[in-house]
Amino acid sequence: MENKISDLLTTVNPPECSTSDQNSTQLDDDMVMVQEVATKCPYTGKEMRDPVKNIHCKHNYDREGITAAMKLRKGKTRCPVPGCVNDKPISTSDLEENHELRLYIDKKNRQHDKKNRKM
Ligand SMILES: [Zn+2]
Repeated sequence: MENKISDLLTTVNPPECSTSDQNSTQLDDDMVMVQEVATKCPYTGKEMRDPVKNIHCKHNYDREGITAAMKLRKGKTRCPVPGCVNDKPISTSDLEENHELRLYIDKKNRQHDKKNRKM
């Protein structure tokens, strides 16, 4: 009798545990995505479409925003991120395409579209 009861307990428990674990990890992933990666351009305050990275301080800007700012201030544009230690004027040779961030933004936009369609 005792053996049969313990068999029942072990077969019933595992499925319940694994489903609740899956739910909690999905929620955590969403939270991390929103908090960790800044996808807004510090110049325009808009979501970046074509992100470029400053090779000196690793901050990201939208190509359109930073290009416009460089034209406007004629070579005296500095990194606009608050607390940034990089005080060199930005030039085009300091910027490189940020493929990783671009992929991330594309992915984020697709997820956003899906959510909107459901609404
Ligand atoms: Zn910076």
